Amino acid sequence: MGTKQTIGVIGLGNMGRGMCATLLREGYQVFGTDVAASSMQLAQDLGVQTCPHVQALCQQTKQLIISLPKAEHVALVIAGAEGVLAHAQANTLVMDTSTSKPEVSKALAVQMQQAGHAFLDTPVSGGPAGAHAGTMVMLVGGNEAALPQAQPILQALSSKWVHLGESGSGHAAKLINNLLCAAHLLTTAEAVAIGNKAGLDAEKLLAGINAGSGRSGVSEVNFPKWVLSEAFDSGFTMGLMRKDLALAAELVESTGLDLAMAQQVLGTWQASSETQADGDDFNRIIHTVPGL
Ligand code: NAD
Repeated sequence: MGTKQTIGVIGLGNMGRGMCATLLREGYQVFGTDVAASSMQLAQDLGVQTCPHVQALCQQTKQLIISLPKAEHVALVIAGAEGVLAHAQANTLVMDTSTSKPEVSKALAVQMQQAGHAFLDTPVSGGPAGAHAGTMVMLVGGNEAALPQAQPILQALSSKWVHLGESGSGHAAKLINNLLCAAHLLTTAEAVAIGNKAGLDAEKLLAGINAGSGRSGVSEVNFPKWVLSEAFDSGFTMGLMRKDLALAAELVESTGLDLAMAQQVLGTWQASSETQADGDDFNRIIHTVPGL
């Protein structure tokens, strides 16, 4: 048996920790770092070897996964004075699983490539549960030449991954996906509200929809698991979804297209900040629909 493959995870939150658990199960030696002591402790409890900062992490491995809240955090961790560019070993591969800005990913990929490294945008779907189970969907953007090295990691973390094209295309596709998810939450909530008024049982209505052409990930997963159960514990917050939708709004605007449905959805989510806290579960957007 050869020595274990090493990997480092920057950002040990809900998603980062789940990915660590999967990578440990897959036989990797996993290192990690985070600015929050609580996240570091929870990762240590899983068996992650924590490092005090990015420099120490880079000394341990040439394969890095990033899972940070926003593009600004990713840019700082890569290109900041104490970041990956300053400390990475030669030929380091970075995979950014955060939901981030396509232009930031493009610029970071250029900087990394000029320094002899590789940077792929690899945003994910599937939530903390998918991260823990290794069943996420990953949307990959970036240089094809980096794919052979990334492939075993993509395979470990996901049940399916798709290479969209050049840098930033993974993040653009993820923003489009989340805009659809945001829309489906509202349209499915309206469907259930109509059903309620028409005297239909919500669970039976959804069973019917899920056997038919109106179904979506939201009707098949979110409603049974987190809405009808009233659990609202998906692990994905309102704050993060509103962040994603602000980025989606920029993407829509850059197209110059006048899209009535997208504008309606974006407006509803933006206005929800007046009634729903950033820390609330994102499925609670259904409460903006009358009758729910
Ligand atoms: P989270 O808030 O649970 O975790 C983020 C972690 O990053 C925290 O532990 C925080 O301390 C750490 N952090 C912040 N700045 C840092 C820095 N400069 N250096 C090191 N660590 C830093 O968030 P999450 O739910 O794990 O989401 C992470 C990313 O994944 C986000 O971009 C989110 O949009 C995306 N995402 C989340 C989900 C989900 O269901 N939670 C699903 C798909 C994608």
